[in-house]
Amino acid sequence: MRNKGNYVASLCEIVRWLGQQAEALGVNVFTGFPAASLLVEGQRVVGVRTAAAGLDRDGRPLANYVAPNDLVAKVTALAEGTRGMLSQAWSEWQQVPAENPQIFALGVKEIWETKRPLDRIVHTLGWPLPRDAFGGSFLYPLAPNLVALGLVVGLDYRDGTLDIHSLFQRMKLHPLFCRYLDGGEMVEWGAKTIPEGGYYSVPARRSGDGVLILGDSAGFVDVPSLKGIHYAVQSGILAARAIFAALRSEQASAVQLAEYDRAVNASFIMQDLYRTRNMRLAFKDGFYTGGLKAGLMTLTGGRFPSRKIAMQPDAAVPRRTGLAGGAGRDEPRVADGTLTFSKVDGVFKSGNTTRDTTPTHLIVGPDVPPDAATFYAHMCPAGVYERVDGTLRVNAPNCVDCKATDILGPRWTPREGGSGPKYKRM
Ligand SMILES: Cc1cc2nc3c(=O)[nH]c(=O)nc-3n(C[C@H](O)[C@H](O)[C@H](O)COP(=O)(O)OP(=O)(O)OC[C@H]3O[C@@H](n4cnc5c(N)ncnc54)[C@H](O)[C@@H]3O)c2cc1C
Ligand code: SF4
Repeated sequence: MRNKGNYVASLCEIVRWLGQQAEALGVNVFTGFPAASLLVEGQRVVGVRTAAAGLDRDGRPLANYVAPNDLVAKVTALAEGTRGMLSQAWSEWQQVPAENPQIFALGVKEIWETKRPLDRIVHTLGWPLPRDAFGGSFLYPLAPNLVALGLVVGLDYRDGTLDIHSLFQRMKLHPLFCRYLDGGEMVEWGAKTIPEGGYYSVPARRSGDGVLILGDSAGFVDVPSLKGIHYAVQSGILAARAIFAALRSEQASAVQLAEYDRAVNASFIMQDLYRTRNMRLAFKDGFYTGGLKAGLMTLTGGRFPSRKIAMQPDAAVPRRTGLAGGAGRDEPRVADGTLTFSKVDGVFKSGNTTRDTTPTHLIVGPDVPPDAATFYAHMCPAGVYERVDGTLRVNAPNCVDCKATDILGPRWTPREGGSGPKYKRM
């Protein structure tokens, strides 16, 4: 966690700046065209099909209907971030194994304009989480009057009524945070999942015929340092080199593109992930046992324990529901609209611009049992799911695409371009 001499920056601003640099070099950047499926010929990926736009709630074309477009390419680089839908589809289709299933955390984050400058970085572990959940918080200065803070919680928590948004709101009442926030204004809110499985969850190969997988979609995140950006950037650089070499030899075959896997395996990406390979996994047995084991791993440079800690997918973790729930149960307190906010306030501050009349992009099975409805309602940071009279109500336009739903419940699918949150300074 020691990062002296580094910068704290807004990823949105960096990405916008990078986009301008790319366009200045002649690269076409088309925003607002979500890729909905892969185009394949035999075993080869030959491009993507974009999502349709301008459909009504029942899927009928409106006057502004735009049909899906097929974008074909010699090589398709999948950089969809966490829980990438196309990356998952390709790995399943090609039966690419990983030693462990991928596991995830959900991070909820706010940007605040403050009256009191923050002169340090704050990281915490544990509270306000129950002991059988893994997670912690961060508070970073972005400018003298601007801070970013958030709470990140592993989705393998046991309490089916745990509500990460509500715990985050409660966390801000602690003097460690509220002394910086008092008198300030929350200007942006967001939520996103993070692949946390580390070394053992990275797919055995991230390349195939006509395709490469980069960044979070490949699981390149080091949880002990909460870092994934420089791995995403480096995997992009290595992918670009492999693609360039493959195109020069006029063959973007699996054999040529396997150079990308070799380069990633030899890079600091896999070396860093190997060093902390069991660190996050140790916390599956609770906070104190995990803390002890993680300490031993740090002391032994990752050599303890000598074997992989086996994990199960987050969706397979048994949850306490109903009366057996726990810490998340009596949350939230009523949001005061000044220091603490409701989920609806959060969605508003995410800049979500989804039309109310789009077809739903969340695939929910029929007859969701009441306990599952309660679980989804607590899990979703954006208030998309509500339990009403024992049944599940789905407010799909509220979705901020954090993907927690795809990991723990109903399937998430891409929706028309321009939908979703409009983060500016996240
Ligand atoms: C709360 C939180 C705090 C974090 N803090 C840090 C930190 O301090 N330092 C650090 O290094 N890392 C941090 N990370 C992790 C870091 O954000 C990620 O590792 C990094 O952004 C991964 O980059 P990426 O390009 O792979 O994915 P992303 O940055 O997620 O970019 C993927 C993009 O693809 C888009 N996309 C997804 N699906 C489709 C589709 N079907 N069609 C078209 N576009 C699509 C997404 O909308 C997104 O814009 C944090 C993450 C979270 C959630
Ligand atoms: S519906 Fe799912 S993906 Fe959308 S905000 Fe809620 S949990 Fe996240």
